[in-house]
Amino acid sequence: MGGPDKLTDAERAAAIAAFEKLGICTQLAEAAANLGWKSPSSIQEQAIPHLLQGDDVIGLAQTGSGKTGAFSLPILQALLDKPQEHFALILSPTRELAIQIAEQVEALGAGIGVKCAVLVGGIDMMAQAIALARRPHVLVGTPGRVVDHLSNTKGFNLKQLKHLVLDEADKLLDMDFEQEIDQILKVIPRERRTQLFSATMTSKVQKLQRACLVRPVKVEVAAKYSTVETLRQQYAFIPAKYKDCYLAYVLNELSGSTFMVFTRTCDSTRRIALLLRNLGFGAVPIHGHMSQPKRLGALTKFKAGERNVLVATDVASRGLDIPSVDVVLNYDVPQVGKGGGGGRG
Ligand code: AMP
Repeated sequence: MGGPDKLTDAERAAAIAAFEKLGICTQLAEAAANLGWKSPSSIQEQAIPHLLQGDDVIGLAQTGSGKTGAFSLPILQALLDKPQEHFALILSPTRELAIQIAEQVEALGAGIGVKCAVLVGGIDMMAQAIALARRPHVLVGTPGRVVDHLSNTKGFNLKQLKHLVLDEADKLLDMDFEQEIDQILKVIPRERRTQLFSATMTSKVQKLQRACLVRPVKVEVAAKYSTVETLRQQYAFIPAKYKDCYLAYVLNELSGSTFMVFTRTCDSTRRIALLLRNLGFGAVPIHGHMSQPKRLGALTKFKAGERNVLVATDVASRGLDIPSVDVVLNYDVPQVGKGGGGGRG
């Protein structure tokens, strides 16, 4: 998803109109545009209209899909209608995610004066108790710490809660938060709206869903290995014996770019890097037969821009996070559809 780029006037107007079309009020549509969101993401498009109608929603979506916006915009809109403290509780499996969610809720709600409190472990309970005393509208927390406050922070309860969100439900359950979630469910009103987001629909998640959602609408977005929309993909069908020649041609045509070239074997990685280097390209190989320091060295050179072509086997490159690559070339047809780093923009 896009970062907070500033939109042009035309883009901004189009973004606001697109969010309004889903039923989002102007103030909040403007807030989304202020974050650089050009149009609603797929999960937002699907979930928001249901949520505004008051349905419970199950969203099968991952981090990166824009799910935080999907669940928080309708909550903020409902809050705008009837402002009250402890309006919504968002449960997240990790502290980092809770903080990230709160930041996004605050950014979207900045114009309507929304107050958030983050209740996570590892941070002083007292400071959080003071934040709770300021009567926040939205609470974001990890289940353990929320339960801690329910039992130990004087005057704090969730009897007025209107919205509950279980984010990353599969992870919440993997991390054994079941008991804490049950405790929370016991002290919040039955009469509320509930949303559950999860990357996967496990039997445990289904059980949780049955326990806390009423006639939910299910929305789903494409799974993990989707490619970014701005990615242009092309396929060249050429005789094997001319492949090297075509490779050199493409690198030359697009010179000035950074490239990752994926190959199937360590040997071909070595051979291609050597070949390209002899042709004067700044190529560096990375493969499983290299020592870890050498691999790191190659990567550092590539990241620092000292070399602009990284030739890699899929295995060696797995999990690499390289922020700016202009062109990805799969020298061989990737063995698995999702492979070859093709999804990294
Ligand atoms: P999430 O999946 O909620 O963790 O969101 C991932 C990232 O996508 C965050 O940095 C959001 O700011 C961003 N984002 C959410 N919705 C949109 C949108 N409609 N357009 C562009 N970026 C978005």
